[in-house]
Amino acid sequence: MPDASLDPAPLSLTCAVCGEEVDDAGYLPATEEDGAYRPHPDAAVCGPCGFNEVGMLGCAPELDEVADAGPEDALLYVTRVDEGFEVVSAKG
Ligand SMILES: [Zn+2]
Repeated sequence: MPDASLDPAPLSLTCAVCGEEVDDAGYLPATEEDGAYRPHPDAAVCGPCGFNEVGMLGCAPELDEVADAGPEDALLYVTRVDEGFEVVSAKG
């Protein structure tokens, strides 16, 4: 588990590809700063679109496929929890 948490933690995310609300798991670009992830919810992608539209046939997307990546940016794999989203994994 990554140490850093989302700050601010988004209460809801809308997929930038299909426009549906992310209600299970999805991908959320974020900038790591002071031990926390500053999310970029405008570039969030839902799980199915991450696989089908952004990634290559079953492979998780790379960060630069979903957002203009900077050196401090990471692509977070997040899942929906009771209050917002929880970071499952991150890759920069
Ligand atoms: Zn989608």
